[in-house]
Amino acid sequence: MPRIRKISVLIASLLVGLLTISAISVDRLKSHVTWLSDPAREGRHGGTAGAAAAADYLVDKFKELGFDVQKQEFGGNRRNVVAKGGTAERYILIGAHYDGQGNGMPSASDNAAGVAVMLELARDLKAKELPVSIVAVAFDDEEQGLNGSRYYSDHPLYPLDRAQAAIIFDTMGRTFMDLPTWTMFVLGTEYSSEIAGVVQKRSGAEMLVAGTDLIGPRSDFAPFALKHIPYLFFTHATHKDYHGPGDTADRVNYGKLAQDATVIEQIVEDIARLRAPPKFLDQPVYPASETAALRRELDLVQKERTDLPAAYRMMFEDFKSRLQKDDSREVRRVATSALLALATPRVSSFMLVFILGPYYEREDQREIAAAIYEEAIKFTPDASSRRELDEKIKTLRTR
Ligand SMILES: [Zn+2]
Repeated sequence: MPRIRKISVLIASLLVGLLTISAISVDRLKSHVTWLSDPAREGRHGGTAGAAAAADYLVDKFKELGFDVQKQEFGGNRRNVVAKGGTAERYILIGAHYDGQGNGMPSASDNAAGVAVMLELARDLKAKELPVSIVAVAFDDEEQGLNGSRYYSDHPLYPLDRAQAAIIFDTMGRTFMDLPTWTMFVLGTEYSSEIAGVVQKRSGAEMLVAGTDLIGPRSDFAPFALKHIPYLFFTHATHKDYHGPGDTADRVNYGKLAQDATVIEQIVEDIARLRAPPKFLDQPVYPASETAALRRELDLVQKERTDLPAAYRMMFEDFKSRLQKDDSREVRRVATSALLALATPRVSSFMLVFILGPYYEREDQREIAAAIYEEAIKFTPDASSRRELDEKIKTLRTR
């Protein structure tokens, strides 16, 4: 090998070395997710032996990292695992729920992957000697109604008024709706201009920053929002195996997960180094990029999902033009509901029947409303409900 090439190879490998030092480890993420979603954990349903074993695993891992670890029991064989690293009184809370859907449901992306991100961030951030401590909280029993995070926010082991921010991870490592493109959703910037500034600075093409009202109080950020703690919520969102037996460890994209965890780490570090603690805004200021992002997402789904049912094709077409003319929160919320209805069959019928259909009836777009109820029938096993929907469709089409 000529000398000049030897030198450039040397420089290249040094650079790669530097890059890997600052990045989150793919292998460690994978080993956490694989362990937590192993069939032996029986889907980590809150209150079961599988979840208790997962809590023990987390206690051990945090101890290895040199964190002060406590289990916070809250009845029914459920407990949060709370770990603090650092001596500063002010801290950043990072949190993810470790419980899952129960037997037969590996619950790897939801939410072994979020827990793995939390663990690896805890490891890396502790080594950075930040001006604030890190408090990591692994919540139990999220799936039955955010029980662990609600309990923790009511009984915090470290005073919440010392929390610089709460950074929450849920459902990570797979692409939204199994689309070929990668998107990390970032919610919560609307309640803190300082945090919005940090996210803006670190934002990339694969990040979609949106207001939390578009999805509602669906994960562990909600109890902290209620207490007016500035927060961020990171998710890669739902996919075809969400809450199903196919949410397995081998389907998580660890390379992408590590890449995004590294971006999140930079964001947390920036928040830790803010000169003044972020303030929780009384009135939300929604991200300017939101409408464009929503339209892009609708467009992408239309292009990628060639088998899109008529109701969705009609709605997406309509929302794309509506979003251009109407900048109300309502249109954005309803458009997001259409995306979520398509993405999550489990909630499709509810959203079609109670949000999307009524919206188009109010707008007097009867053809779209009728198509929505036709779509809902596919998800309605109950015969009398189906008859009701049939009646609705007839009325809409004959009026
Ligand atoms: Zn979850």
